[in-house]
Amino acid sequence: MKQFKTESKRIMDLMINSIYTNKEIFLRELISNASDAIDKLKFISLTDTSVDTDFQIVITADKDKRTLTVEDNGVGMTEEDLEKNLGTIAESGTLAFKKENEIKDGEELIGQFGVGFYSAFMVADKIEVYSRAYKSDKAFKWESEGVEGYTVTPDEKETTGTKIVLTLKPDGEDYKYSELLEEYKITSLVKRYSDYIRYPIKTYKTHSVKKEGTSDDKPEYEQVKELETLNSMIPLWKKSKSEVKKEDLDEFYKNEFHDYADPLKAVYAKIEGTLTYDALLFVPSHAPFDYYSKDYKKGLKLYSNGVMIMEKCEELLPDYFGFIRGIVDSADLSLNISREILQQDRQVKAIANGIEKKISSELKKMLEEDRENYEKMFNEFGLSLKFGAYAGFGMNKDKLKDLLMFYSSKKEKLVTLKEYVEEMKDGQTEIYYACGESYDKIASLPQIEKAKDAGYEILFFKDGVDEFVAKIMNDYDGKKFKSVSEADFSAGNEEEKKELSDKTEEYKDILAFMKESLAGKVKDVKLSTNLKTYPVCLSTSGEISIEMEKVLNSMPNANQKIQAEKILELNAGHKLIEKLKNIYETDKDALKKYALVLYEQARLLEGLPVENAKDFVSAVSDIL
Ligand code: ADP
Repeated sequence: MKQFKTESKRIMDLMINSIYTNKEIFLRELISNASDAIDKLKFISLTDTSVDTDFQIVITADKDKRTLTVEDNGVGMTEEDLEKNLGTIAESGTLAFKKENEIKDGEELIGQFGVGFYSAFMVADKIEVYSRAYKSDKAFKWESEGVEGYTVTPDEKETTGTKIVLTLKPDGEDYKYSELLEEYKITSLVKRYSDYIRYPIKTYKTHSVKKEGTSDDKPEYEQVKELETLNSMIPLWKKSKSEVKKEDLDEFYKNEFHDYADPLKAVYAKIEGTLTYDALLFVPSHAPFDYYSKDYKKGLKLYSNGVMIMEKCEELLPDYFGFIRGIVDSADLSLNISREILQQDRQVKAIANGIEKKISSELKKMLEEDRENYEKMFNEFGLSLKFGAYAGFGMNKDKLKDLLMFYSSKKEKLVTLKEYVEEMKDGQTEIYYACGESYDKIASLPQIEKAKDAGYEILFFKDGVDEFVAKIMNDYDGKKFKSVSEADFSAGNEEEKKELSDKTEEYKDILAFMKESLAGKVKDVKLSTNLKTYPVCLSTSGEISIEMEKVLNSMPNANQKIQAEKILELNAGHKLIEKLKNIYETDKDALKKYALVLYEQARLLEGLPVENAKDFVSAVSDIL
């Protein structure tokens, strides 16, 4: 018996003792090896017409012997090939590179690359490889039962190609290996992982057939096993663009990504350049239930020449486009782990860059040409784009700013920032927004009325992240974001300004008294001309707005309460003001209660909870 090379031993050990949940990828690995071997012989057949070009991969299950066989009529292996290829693995730096953190990386290694032939040891105790190389007059058998070693002996195999026989492990609690011998299981694995292999992958399927000689009145049936092709063989993305219809793409999407609804958009891109690849990208019509949770895994399906290497290659999508589904197939990527992982990473990065640009330009096109669907998309995934604009201190804000939408007070629908800026009033220099939990609540904010009357369009910020996005962006097209509660809509109206300052002077003592009685709650109490019908509102000074206070305090780890610096604004034109003056002059204690009631009212209008229900209720009762 011969010994495996040290590195191979390590890989095998890993495979034999693997707890890797996705053991089933071994079949994909064997099939892709078979497909490669056929590729080689197919190439030879171009010049050697004696080669049998009826290429196929056949999978057979034998329940009695507990064996699963994968046979191809590819190029085959010589005695030396068997020694070299199956006795050694990963001659390159791949493993050396992975040396630290062995076990954890091992699991990852299997997950990402399957580590080829050896992955069969995840399901088999014993592996026999029968092979006859092209043009060889001898066949050989390679056999191994694990780390102990392997033997290579002469064999009788008559046809060119390779037959791999796996004797499955006994069923265990972790996995029912015998299931791999079931027709349905083989079918589903081939469909899932190897559907687009260019050669037919066949297995014997049982059919009921009428026995010959039995009459139509009294038919008798017998069970017949017939070879059936399991894979569709032609990847959709290998067809020319003009051949692929929208319905094909929709159908493909639904099958491939298990969605019941058509995608909002399907993109078929063929990229040719230093790196050549095909991409099918889809914008789903609805977010998966776990989309906004940490359980969601983004990623595109990655194929190398029609062979799936990864179900979800995360690296191909930035977080903010994490909702995009699709596949990428590149001839420049290799399944072979013996290639440098680093090099592969660089290629993946280059593809990711191209994909990101493509998604971005397609979304912009959708926004311009298919507004209805874009808005649907935005309703589902807009939050993802907004988080993207905010994340990493806004490092991607410029890429995303034109994809964002906000609800407009004027249009009563979503608008882009570009649209907002284009329609700004003469002399308007800022982008106005107002925050709240819902559009209804924002629409009834006291501060809104005046701004609306003055003819300004206001963006309604309903999501917690909205204002953070505005702060991190600072401006759009040179126009700064400004909260309506901080803006001064009386600008330019000198008369109103004068009136306000006169009145503030007149009410100086009252305002100071109220401020003192609300100490710890508000930073200031002042008169305002920003209000129309409402008597009061809360505004803020400083960096933190009321909306931000709400968001920050609702975070799971918000142990220390964050307080916005609040200012209680009293409507200078409201008749209540006169009343406050009277009360101040006759009953200062009562004014304290009024101050409290007004303050709590203003909180309610902002969507903040009543701070002290008991005091509030008793103050209201007293006043009533
Ligand atoms: P990889 O396929 O990544 O190179 P494997 O361990 O799966 O790694 O296979 C090692 C080598 O064994 C292959 O590169 C190929 O040369 C050879 N090989 C494996 N399976 C077959 C097969 N069915 N027919 C011919 N050669 C094969």
